[in-house]
Amino acid sequence: MKKVLIVATRNAHKVQEIAAMLPAGYEVHSLADFPSAPEVEESAATFAGNAALKACGISSLLPGMVLADDSGLCVDALGGAPGVMSARYAGVHGDDAANNARLLHELAELPQPHTARFMCCMCVAEGGRVLAEFTGKVEGQITLTPAGEHGFGYDPLFVPAGYDCTMAQLSAEQKNAISHRADALQQFLAWAGSEQAPTA
Ligand code: IMP
Repeated sequence: MKKVLIVATRNAHKVQEIAAMLPAGYEVHSLADFPSAPEVEESAATFAGNAALKACGISSLLPGMVLADDSGLCVDALGGAPGVMSARYAGVHGDDAANNARLLHELAELPQPHTARFMCCMCVAEGGRVLAEFTGKVEGQITLTPAGEHGFGYDPLFVPAGYDCTMAQLSAEQKNAISHRADALQQFLAWAGSEQAPTA
């Protein structure tokens, strides 16, 4: 029998990446399958806090195990910004082009290299209660020359450590081998396969 997992997001890119990284035994749903599910306000000051808000909020309304991903980019020279504001850095939620333009503007006059990391906090909940939490990250630098067509968000501006191309120039498989989301999901899979996880 397949393990059903609801990913508490309407971000199709996140769902696609998570679904591609899960083993065949999982049946993945997202909030696109539950159009009447409410938007959970991401009012916490941390990725972990927002992941817990989303996982608990949605799992209190829908049956089964819910996985929430709160993620973003943290740039050292900007004191960790855009951080939890990553999706709405330029004001409009999910406007990747505007967010990238603001980031380039903020960094234009600052000394290089622009060290940064992508962070991903995942929270698993059921019945409104947190079951487990995981944090993944990938280190890198911001380039002022956007490149690449793959991925989403800040991928065209992020050069992972050890690479000479942006995340958006990597294939989906290559990104999924090194990403912050992959790091967190590997921890989730280790937990899900352990005795601590619910069996149903
Ligand atoms: P959230 O939906 O509040 O977790 O915000 C996620 C935001 O962080 C996205 O809208 C992107 O701006 C950024 N982000 C998270 N993960 C990635 C990634 O894998 N690549 C590029 N940008 C990302």
